[in-house]
Amino acid sequence: MTDFATLVGVTNDLERVHAKLVRETERLQAGLGYGHDLTWSDYFQPTELECRCGCGKGAESMDERFLHALAVLRKECDFPFVLNSAYRCPKHNAKVSGTGRNGPHTIGAVDIRVPDTQHALKIIANAQAAGMTGIGYAPRKRFVHVDALRDGDGGRKKWPRPGYWTY
Ligand SMILES: [Zn+2]
Repeated sequence: MTDFATLVGVTNDLERVHAKLVRETERLQAGLGYGHDLTWSDYFQPTELECRCGCGKGAESMDERFLHALAVLRKECDFPFVLNSAYRCPKHNAKVSGTGRNGPHTIGAVDIRVPDTQHALKIIANAQAAGMTGIGYAPRKRFVHVDALRDGDGGRKKWPRPGYWTY
């Protein structure tokens, strides 16, 4: 007869397998990439994604599809992403950006600091395949903005937007 400790061990293993299958199913249902079992927390601390106004909101307020794309992009680029800006609450975004209370950063966007052109180009080259739909390059301010906005996000009606632009 199976002893109790073995039974507990088997049950725990099954629970882990079940949890992994549930996560993978949720990703597939959300239309996220196959085989990319990556999440933002594989590469970033929660504070790195928080709004800079101090309101405490961050990753939990961001679009899940964007966060997945960010993790894939980070893996593909294979260098640390230093974020100038990540989540912004509507109030903070209206204060610091012309995009107002429903700008990309209130949904899911980051500005990644780039030390040189090579790093910028590597981000740009991999962004679309990772799932990004908005890429903005600021060579003088040395950052690349990426987001994964879709038609209708933030009440947007004026599409198509550029997809790629410079600041
Ligand atoms: Zn805020």
